[in-house]
Amino acid sequence: MKFLPALINNTLLPIIALTFGFTVISTYPAETLFWLQDKNWLPYPLLIIAAVIASQFNQSRYFYVCLLWLGLFTLVDNPKLLGESLSNTTALLIVAGVTSLLLWQQDKGLRLFNVLLSALLIAITGGLIAWLLLGDVVTSTVQYQAWSSDYATLLPSIAKHLTLLELALYFIFFLNAAIRVSLPPKLNHSLLAASLCLLAILNTNLTLQMMAFASSLFALITVIIVLLDSHTMAFKDELTGISSRRALMHFTKSLFNNYTIVMADVDHFKAFNDKYGHDVGDQVLRMVAQQLNQVGKGGRAFRYGGEEFTLVFPRKKPEQVFEIVDALREGIAQYPLVIRQPDRPKSKPKSEDEKPKPQQKQQTVHVTMSFGAALRNKQTNFEQALKLADEALYKAKKAGRNNVQMADA
Ligand code: GH3
Ligand code: MG
Ligand code: MG
Repeated sequence: MKFLPALINNTLLPIIALTFGFTVISTYPAETLFWLQDKNWLPYPLLIIAAVIASQFNQSRYFYVCLLWLGLFTLVDNPKLLGESLSNTTALLIVAGVTSLLLWQQDKGLRLFNVLLSALLIAITGGLIAWLLLGDVVTSTVQYQAWSSDYATLLPSIAKHLTLLELALYFIFFLNAAIRVSLPPKLNHSLLAASLCLLAILNTNLTLQMMAFASSLFALITVIIVLLDSHTMAFKDELTGISSRRALMHFTKSLFNNYTIVMADVDHFKAFNDKYGHDVGDQVLRMVAQQLNQVGKGGRAFRYGGEEFTLVFPRKKPEQVFEIVDALREGIAQYPLVIRQPDRPKSKPKSEDEKPKPQQKQQTVHVTMSFGAALRNKQTNFEQALKLADEALYKAKKAGRNNVQMADA
């Protein structure tokens, strides 16, 4: 299934899906949401289920955000709970601010100490936002009032829903989310950013029905994303990003008894690691994985473990894949891997003459790989074929490395 990895890689998908879906539907609330009219209880079980699932997968931030949504929905559903002291817009902003903060937290699981610490952070952030919005520290200043009246004249359609201070806070939260989501793009950050988008959109149409719809939508997307995340964890190798050994086992089970297995191993990798360090070693593994992953011609690449990789070619015999694999081997051997020299000067050079020359600053290295191919057919089961491929790989090592060998028929 190529569709699923593409979906997983697209970290912006949750934001686009949630915001677009919600915007479209909120344009026609009466027609589209009539079925929700007598189902205002729906967000309670959905958000609780989403929170429980998130907690089971150690996604503590989703867990907190689901609980915040639950609290928010409870407030909108029971306006008498807090009376006049907290408007719904303020409650939305508090949740938005806390979500924005959670973007920088790590998922540390739900151990008591971590939960208490997060609860404290959430309470402080929420309290600060409430104090800013409900107190008159900012709003009573002359400057704010002048800007506020300009804002009302310039942007009347936004001013109808948000005060200038509220707009400024949303701006800060969104800027923060944009930075976090792009550095580096990650699916779970983008779900929190999506939550932020929903909260902001809710300001334009804050009815109980809309709130019920948004909360249910958020709960569903959370569950989907937790499942997608765990799919990535199970079937993708963390270091290289290509399919993992578990994916190899699933893939080969789905095939008929007619395919070629190729075992590939980086040559003299221990010595390479010792010379350049583990980090450069990891960089090599990523490069090699990317090259192998571009195999095409019906082949699929997996990281078997350590510096060993496996290629599987459905419906092909070893003779048929020899050229493809040899071309991969050649490509890897030729690939110029640029590494930074570890002994860069700590202090800045004082004059032009002291500046390191370009060839001193970085170094180009090459690695080679050996390959062994074997056929899986009716007579040879997967384990046997893997063993044969391993033996062929050993032959390639003995033959001087950087070559492809086939198992003895
Ligand atoms: P050969 O050519 O015979 O394959 O020699 P080799 O040194 O590659 O083989 P050996 O099995 O002795 O060493 C494998 C090394 O791979 C040992 C280990 O340090 C390194 N290695 C395994 N996994 C990783 C990893 O995830 N990252 C890095 N940087 N190194 C790894
Ligand atoms: Mg090895
Ligand atoms: Mg090796």
